[in-house]
Amino acid sequence: MPFPGVDYILFDSLLSAQELLVRQTARRFVDERVLPVIRDCYRDAVFPTHLIAELAELGFLGANLGPESERYGCPAMNNVEYGLVMQELERGDSGLRSFASVQGSLVMYPILNFGSHEQKSRWLPLLQSGKATGCFGLTEPDFGSNPAGMKTRAVRDGSGWVLNGEKTWITNGSAADIAVVWARTEEGIQGFLVERDTPGFTATNIHDKWSMRASVTSSLSMIDCPLPETAALPGARGLKAALACLTQARFGIGWGVIGAAMDCYETARSYTITRTQFDGKPIASHQLVQEKLAWMITEITKAQLLALHCGRLKDQGRLDAAHVSMLKRNNVTIAIECARLSRDLLGANGITGEYPVMRHLCNLETVRTYEGTDHIHALVIGERVTGIPAYR
Ligand SMILES: Cc1cc2nc3c(=O)[nH]c(=O)nc-3n(C[C@H](O)[C@H](O)[C@H](O)COP(=O)(O)OP(=O)(O)OC[C@H]3O[C@@H](n4cnc5c(N)ncnc54)[C@H](O)[C@@H]3O)c2cc1C
Repeated sequence: MPFPGVDYILFDSLLSAQELLVRQTARRFVDERVLPVIRDCYRDAVFPTHLIAELAELGFLGANLGPESERYGCPAMNNVEYGLVMQELERGDSGLRSFASVQGSLVMYPILNFGSHEQKSRWLPLLQSGKATGCFGLTEPDFGSNPAGMKTRAVRDGSGWVLNGEKTWITNGSAADIAVVWARTEEGIQGFLVERDTPGFTATNIHDKWSMRASVTSSLSMIDCPLPETAALPGARGLKAALACLTQARFGIGWGVIGAAMDCYETARSYTITRTQFDGKPIASHQLVQEKLAWMITEITKAQLLALHCGRLKDQGRLDAAHVSMLKRNNVTIAIECARLSRDLLGANGITGEYPVMRHLCNLETVRTYEGTDHIHALVIGERVTGIPAYR
């Protein structure tokens, strides 16, 4: 059955015809192509690789990278169109949205914004068309929330570089043709493009995950990797360049999790209307059940409005990283709570794979942690309102 959408306060009246069309396209793709396979993918811990070409065909890879990206085949959607795509993909599964986020925001975005003409011409058409996959290596075994401490090091060697280090928890790592790797150099932290067949480079998958099972997560090892001078992204200087990529990705996450929350809400709403207990009465007829549905739809609606406002600000060039921290933190928090409430309302059935809620709930635990934990985003917001950094 097609997803009916969640629109309590005529939210759709705030969207343009084009935005509604893009959402409808993404919604149909998820209903027809993702939902039939995602349960098995999640159970079997495989990413639905066959969908990459379709994501690309629909223009969902690197979709909101601005006018310059059109030269490389990207659609240059506005940020609300892009957000609605992320919402629908994550309604399918957070792993699918993560793939699109990494490819577009963490690989194509730095190449477009910090790369040379040659790097852009070579990689962006391949990444946009899904013919190549990318990953983003920032996190290390000892440095997650504090990437500034990274140990990965690139040292000048003649006209090129030698790269040594380890990255972990890298989405798409072993599937990637190209890795954007952040390393310490004598001139500060820099970003490098590392090709998968570089000598000394290996990617090993992390197994036994109970979250993001339909997503590839890997560790990257770099031992004396020789890199040409052209591997360095010329504009990717300082941690602020890496953080700019994360801000771009977090914007998509702030929209994406609304999709997971909507799916959990709609599953609970329809289940509680049809499920009967005590004299054949639907469980939705009880006040305690309705209160949970009311909380969910209210929080989803607030999350939609926050995301839309941030999208409009981003289109105007007025969205900053601290705004995005609020978007990501709030929307992930309410999405997790919606998943928990939905699981609760489904009773025992809620823990099975027959319904999507436990899968969303497990995925959202990762989404809460990656791209800045909820604590770190609280500290960003705290710094914005007090002027006092409290990270240490
Ligand atoms: C499935 C998955 C995919 C991922 N994909 C990628 C990827 O593609 N690329 C990439 O580079 N990384 C990726 N990550 C890594 C992710 O970004 C990190 O896990 C995240 O930054 C948190 O780091 P950590 O796990 O080391 O936790 P830690 O930093 O050790 O934090 C542990 C806990 O301590 C808290 N904490 C830490 N510092 C503070 C503080 N100052 N104040 C208050 N609380 C604090 C945290 O909020 C958290 O609750 C991924 C992670 C997962 C799970």
